[in-house]
Amino acid sequence: MKKAILLIIDGLGDLPTPKTPLQAAKKPNLDKLAKQGMTGLLSPVGNYVVPGSDTSHLQILGYDPRQFYCGRGPLEALGLGMALRDGDVAFRANFATVENGKVTDRRAGRIDTKTAAALAKNLSMKIEDVEVIFQSSVEHRGALILRGLGLNPMVSPTDPHSLGPLQACRPLTPAAMKTAQVVNAFTRLAMERLSKAPENQKRQKPANTVLLRGAGMYRRMLPFNMSFGVNAACVAGGALYKGVARYVGMDVLDVPGATGDRNTDLKAKANATVKALSNHDLVMVHVKGCDSAGHDGDFAGKKKMLERIDRELIPSLAKTGACLVITGDHSTPVSRKAHSGHPVPILVYGKGERTDLVKRFDELSCMQGGLGHLHGRDIMPLILNLIEKAEKYGS
Ligand code: ZN
Ligand code: ZN
Repeated sequence: MKKAILLIIDGLGDLPTPKTPLQAAKKPNLDKLAKQGMTGLLSPVGNYVVPGSDTSHLQILGYDPRQFYCGRGPLEALGLGMALRDGDVAFRANFATVENGKVTDRRAGRIDTKTAAALAKNLSMKIEDVEVIFQSSVEHRGALILRGLGLNPMVSPTDPHSLGPLQACRPLTPAAMKTAQVVNAFTRLAMERLSKAPENQKRQKPANTVLLRGAGMYRRMLPFNMSFGVNAACVAGGALYKGVARYVGMDVLDVPGATGDRNTDLKAKANATVKALSNHDLVMVHVKGCDSAGHDGDFAGKKKMLERIDRELIPSLAKTGACLVITGDHSTPVSRKAHSGHPVPILVYGKGERTDLVKRFDELSCMQGGLGHLHGRDIMPLILNLIEKAEKYGS
């Protein structure tokens, strides 16, 4: 039975300065696959739409974000392994330092993961009839869930996104009055409890408040295997990607050493992928580092990450005999230090599949490829066709 691996290199695409990191990188394994397979360009969300990682992954996995995007909060919460129920409102959260009503450190003096976990124990509570569930993750980060009747995610963030006065949560629609009141009550109680917590007494920058942003309401969706008739697994380090995978009902594998950043253990990810293929039709592998380097404007770092992927990940994936689809979720040009709407290269390789004349995997070469210019919504049909799981349309 045919299987497929979908490798998403976050922030893969770039702009020439005068070469792109992908053009400059030594990547014999990716180039070999480009030569033996088919290439093209992909606009993950739409032509020249600048994608977020979350909306892009949803679209690539066949869930139109215009219909199914639930906001960042629920995806982060799912990524941390928190159980969400229909109607829960979830936020991204972070510990911060507030002095005289002003946020003076958005990361609470770079608080460590262990101290944050100890402080987090103060933060799950009941406010009126609403259950408040908090979980910390890495360093200052975490997620918050509100569970109760009559909640609404249309509320403003309490995170000022820069140093300055702590923001009250405001309802953005009359239906969100209750939610905003609960958020403000939570902020008050959290500040009271955190200020008294023993862990904070000796900190120069006490983690004495929790900032919230990215509100969204969770709704259960038709899971991946029922939507497409394939069992799928996700190998990723970052919480957001695990969250997207859980949201669409994929199995999310725990991979020790997969950090979701440039220091990630790619060999561990390769091993986890090989193992996952034994009982899944499709494995999505996500690698974050190139996007981080793009945001940092670090050309050499992005090139190095691509070379690591080529050396440490691609050979193991190619050896599995599975069909390979290798692409990105958006461009993160180092010259812009941000996501852009430029299409990303895509390559498809499978035994017995067609090939084209392209010999290298980069932005310019793939422009000449036989796949032409694809849209994110084409990827699931492409994969199902590759592994002979596509249902006939008509009779
Ligand atoms: Zn991304
Ligand atoms: Zn990014």
